[in-house]
Amino acid sequence: MFNAIKERLERAAAIVGVHPDVMEVLRWPKETLAVSLPVRMDDGSIRPLKAFRCRHSEVRGPTKGGIRFHPSVNIDEMMALAFWMTMKTAVVDLPYGGAKGGVAVDTKALSPTELERVSRAYVRAFAEMIDEHRDIPAPDMYTGGIVIAWMTEEIATLKRRPMPAAITGKPLQLGGSLGRDTATGDGAFICLEALRERLGLGDGATVAIQGYGNAARVFAERAAAAGLKVIAVSDSSGAAHDPAGLDLAALGRHKDETGTVGSFTGDLDPDDLLTTKCDLLVPAALDGVIDAAVACELQCRTILEIANGPVTADADSILVERGIEAVPDILANAGGVAVSYLEWVQNKTGDYWPADEIERRLSQRMQASTEAVLAKAETYDTNLRNAAYILALGRLCDAISATGTQTYYNGES
Ligand code: GLU
Repeated sequence: MFNAIKERLERAAAIVGVHPDVMEVLRWPKETLAVSLPVRMDDGSIRPLKAFRCRHSEVRGPTKGGIRFHPSVNIDEMMALAFWMTMKTAVVDLPYGGAKGGVAVDTKALSPTELERVSRAYVRAFAEMIDEHRDIPAPDMYTGGIVIAWMTEEIATLKRRPMPAAITGKPLQLGGSLGRDTATGDGAFICLEALRERLGLGDGATVAIQGYGNAARVFAERAAAAGLKVIAVSDSSGAAHDPAGLDLAALGRHKDETGTVGSFTGDLDPDDLLTTKCDLLVPAALDGVIDAAVACELQCRTILEIANGPVTADADSILVERGIEAVPDILANAGGVAVSYLEWVQNKTGDYWPADEIERRLSQRMQASTEAVLAKAETYDTNLRNAAYILALGRLCDAISATGTQTYYNGES
């Protein structure tokens, strides 16, 4: 997976012409640690869980990225996700590098006390790295809310002082930021609004969403309020479908009560969600769901990637051939890390901002970043994914070259 996704960087580099040394720096993660976490289960047994943290690059600042708890977590995926964080923080111009961590575990099979022990054990295992100036974790899949609260408390206990800026996505009471819980969905919506004309998504354009977690729900509600029609959504247990447009308020209540969007309305098989006929497809669940075979079957005109890495690198050319424009993850889902940055700044300064200030700063950053990606797409006459990589690569190149280039050392200019 890590090798495959680097293809996108190579493609962008081939368009703009990047020195091979710079590519060599970005090709390899800076540091990857794999550990076994022996966790005591409620029945007294010990389960050694596989856990990882990959810090891909710190050329633009301390490494930043979430921690996910999911059975499919493995070292290759961590390296790929860390690489994407490096690209994402560069696209939205945050003073960070990229990292990602995770534990291979199914949180649905854990009791609350077991989940707490896994969360605290993770922090103990990676405590060397976790620091506001070195590596700043955040939530990712199945690590929201109380998991981050336990982690925040554990790092403070280990380092013998509160360290609020060392982890973001904290509950408000522990130094979190207003707007962080809705930031990914808000950011995706702001990005889409800035692209709606280019994408030709007028009033009544239809939307299908795979994965109906927090980010997708926030996005769906804002998209519907802005005139788009959400016709299908799915999660790991079911799907809801209504060609006339779903009643999102009622659907939200149904999901809260039953834990799934299934059995709400319509008889869509969740496996068919991705190939549902719609104007805009929003993958908001796992990576790799749109591979070359699925790409051939899609019936949408555009894709907005709220998930990290939902489209495999070998499907990119099929989307281009079929005229399906993809708004890439490294732009579309950057709202989360953008507000994590605001949280970090507030923690470091001790000056906490009201919700409208967060909203203003998030909107400004997402709009400016989307426009910068559009400008690259026009300059290089290329798609939005290549354009986002070109933008990120340019910023990373500038940082790497600031300590000297081959030309400089050869005294050529
Ligand atoms: N896990 C989120 C992401 O993939 C947020 C990372 C962060 O806030 O540092 O972008």
